[in-house]
Amino acid sequence: MPLANGRSYLAIPGPSVVPDAVLRAMHRAAPNIYEGELPDMMPGIVADLKRVARTDHFAAIYMGNGHAAWEAALANTLAAGDRVLLLATGFFAHGWAQVAKARGIEVDTLDFGNGGPVDAGRVTEALRQDKAHQIKAVLAVHVDTSSSNRNAFAPLRAVLDDLEHPALLIADCIAGMGCDRFEMDASGVDVAITASQKGLMCPPGLGFVFFNDRAAAARRAQARVSAYWDWTPRAEPQAFWQYSGGTAPTHHLYGLRAALNMIHAEGMEAIWARHAALARAIWAAVEHWGQSGPMRLNIADPSLRSHAVTAIHIGKPHGTALRRWCEERAGVTLGIGLGLGTEDDPQSEGVFRIGHMGHVNAHMVLGVLGVIEAGLAALAIPHRPGGVAAAAQAIAAA
Ligand SMILES: *Cc1c(COP(=O)(O)O)cnc(C)c1O
Repeated sequence: MPLANGRSYLAIPGPSVVPDAVLRAMHRAAPNIYEGELPDMMPGIVADLKRVARTDHFAAIYMGNGHAAWEAALANTLAAGDRVLLLATGFFAHGWAQVAKARGIEVDTLDFGNGGPVDAGRVTEALRQDKAHQIKAVLAVHVDTSSSNRNAFAPLRAVLDDLEHPALLIADCIAGMGCDRFEMDASGVDVAITASQKGLMCPPGLGFVFFNDRAAAARRAQARVSAYWDWTPRAEPQAFWQYSGGTAPTHHLYGLRAALNMIHAEGMEAIWARHAALARAIWAAVEHWGQSGPMRLNIADPSLRSHAVTAIHIGKPHGTALRRWCEERAGVTLGIGLGLGTEDDPQSEGVFRIGHMGHVNAHMVLGVLGVIEAGLAALAIPHRPGGVAAAAQAIAAA
């Protein structure tokens, strides 16, 4: 019998759950964009965004999603004909490569597969061969949302510094920022991007680009940057929306203000710790279920797993059946598998993902896991019962 009526729950890895405080902040009459509260709010928003990215440098806001931030990061630092080294650890890195290629950028891809992080040794090898410094930037994804692995950037910065290679280090932090520890300045990242609808708990529609002085110098060296993507005026908190960026995304900015208030009231360290503890509960459940039956976490080594999203193998046709059951019978929407296809399962139908990014607490995670366990039983998918109890133990221990 369907038991889905009641408040539905979106457990996909973005868009994430939007807090009521954010929704309330957006529910208002259209504000004046030229003076008053909204423009006055901008310097504080920019300062608080930089605290999320852990950077003292610059932040530019775009009306756009993560794809817009991808485009913006490239448009300001690279020209057609420039070469980049892409470190691929999943589906999203390849998507970013397509955006780069469409801009005429030459992309050398080092593919590390879907099961783990970048191998700094291979990066060293590739960069060492680039004696002429033709590679202008190294692109890597912090958390690849398809595979749920996590990359560290300090080791990549160390590789570049050891080789005295001048390439910029550009990080896609769209899934991980505000969930998994990321410290832009401390890890030597030159450009970091994110978007509003994951760890930042807002609806999709804002893209953010953080950049340092080296990246600003690369921007100044460009012969031209299209007016919309140019980050120079956008990094001026007071002026940018009125005079250069077009109409401000008014309601999104009110929502973002509320989200940043929540983020800094909790504190970045506490947020990272909360995501880590909730992720451990999810892993405990999946590992328990998987003791008998097909379930398995995509990333074997816990130290390499994201705390924002978890990709789970369950096999075809169970993945699709389980997602359908959870949504139709219990009001929980799980994420589809992405980019983990095999010859037998090209569409990754045997994979599902749980998003646990942003406005997520213990009762939400236990609710999702409880629904999954009910679905496993209802569909007679082989598993060891008791995963929810294992998750509860992990939460009790946190
Ligand atoms: C979600 C996501 C994107 C794409 O963001 P959109 O807002 O859908 O354009 C890119 N990279 C990563 C790592 C993501 O998680």
